[in-house]
Amino acid sequence: MQENQSPVRTRMAPSPTGEMHVASMATLLKNYAFAKKHHGQFILRIEDTDKTREVVDGVEQIQSIIKKFGLDWDEGPGKNGAYGPYIQSKRLKLYQEKAEELVKKGRAYYCFCSKERLEKVRQEQQARHQAPRYDQHCRHLDEDEVKKRLSAGESYVIRLKVPENQEIVFTDLLRGEITFNSGQVDDQVLLKSDGYPTYHLAVVVDDHLMKISHVMRGEEWISSTPKHVLLYQAFDWALPIFAHFPLFLNPDGKGKMSKRKGTVSAQSFLDRGYLPEALLNFLMILGWSAKDQRELMSLGEYINEFDPRDLSMNSVIFDIKKLNWLNGIYIRRLDKKELKERLKAFIPEEFPQEKFEKILALVYERMVTLADFAELTDFFYKEIDYPAELLFKKAKDQQDLLKEQIQQSKLAIESLNAFDLNSLEKAIRKLQEKNDWHKGQYFMFLRVAMTGRTATPPLFETMLVLGSDLIIKRLDLASKKIEKHE
Ligand code: GLU
Repeated sequence: MQENQSPVRTRMAPSPTGEMHVASMATLLKNYAFAKKHHGQFILRIEDTDKTREVVDGVEQIQSIIKKFGLDWDEGPGKNGAYGPYIQSKRLKLYQEKAEELVKKGRAYYCFCSKERLEKVRQEQQARHQAPRYDQHCRHLDEDEVKKRLSAGESYVIRLKVPENQEIVFTDLLRGEITFNSGQVDDQVLLKSDGYPTYHLAVVVDDHLMKISHVMRGEEWISSTPKHVLLYQAFDWALPIFAHFPLFLNPDGKGKMSKRKGTVSAQSFLDRGYLPEALLNFLMILGWSAKDQRELMSLGEYINEFDPRDLSMNSVIFDIKKLNWLNGIYIRRLDKKELKERLKAFIPEEFPQEKFEKILALVYERMVTLADFAELTDFFYKEIDYPAELLFKKAKDQQDLLKEQIQQSKLAIESLNAFDLNSLEKAIRKLQEKNDWHKGQYFMFLRVAMTGRTATPPLFETMLVLGSDLIIKRLDLASKKIEKHE
């Protein structure tokens, strides 16, 4: 699909600053799929030049979450590759050399301005209602003075010498040609006084040296791209192909999906019982659809069909209902053994393992996430409690009736010859008919007494799994609640 003939090499370049955002996982998936589709390579590069934001184990977290989603990288940390190291903090010398190379070419300059001076300039600009930017104070220092100050050991940064009034043009796969004017770009810091590169320098140097053919990332980086284009030009390097993917909006459609409206890390979805394959499928169809519009899709199918040019340019709503729907489907696609395995992390210790299959059969259809299992089934083995009102269908004038129902139900259970579904159901139904009890009332009453809830799996199956001892115990509990209620 690309005009130049170089092999497709895409990359994901996360910073190890905490759990990976689900939108970053979506970006990663697209880069991965695109590389695979074109028989190219997908590179993982760690952008750890901002040490103040780094978290312990940040790199390991990134590697582990990618693997949990069944994805992998061809080159990057822990893998061989011809263009390493793939961790930016291990490449500092290289960025320093490249920054100095630009100074020599007259495309960058040393800047000795102190923090205090920069702050003063900023305040003056603010007072004049101007956008804050560097006033180019050091741009025209003469060479001798620069040399002197360098050899005196003065602290410095290296800044990009942004050309005046020049059109900056680049092509975005989704948006076509984008034009900026260089007047909109500040004389960007490339190398900081501690010898670390800024994101802009490091990203361009690495994307070039790692032979990245397609730089595909979130839309939030689009305003940085003109700076990068200027850098490519300053180095006399060919531009890669750019693509900027739309943002995700919160499920309510309001605002960029962010931590303020709930957890957004890819890991947090796994913790809440979403299957990685369901979440991946969901991310595939967020803002993109297959030619035949089908929504269920394997990774292999996606790799075959994905084309970034078909992505919507509009922000996409993170439609949690669709994710839930997909997750339910994926849960029911697992065979029971596999499902049991995946549920392990979600089942509390006290769960009666010997009843697992029977209980699973009762809630299987209703599970949206793996975490639902515990919530849907805890009444099978935990003490229950509920407001007494739940036992009453209408007003409080039913005490006598309820007491009667409890007593007769207990008798019926105790006098069962065999405790199986058929006998149990027959006995309870017979009771209802014989007494001419209102069906809805009696069965709901029983359901609440057995489970503490009004929505449960089928009543008789549930009672069967509970067993006669628990049934009696719970009828006694209901009886106590009714008495107290009088
Ligand atoms: N390090 C940047 C990030 O954390 C990478 C942006 C890019 O892909 O250029 O997202």
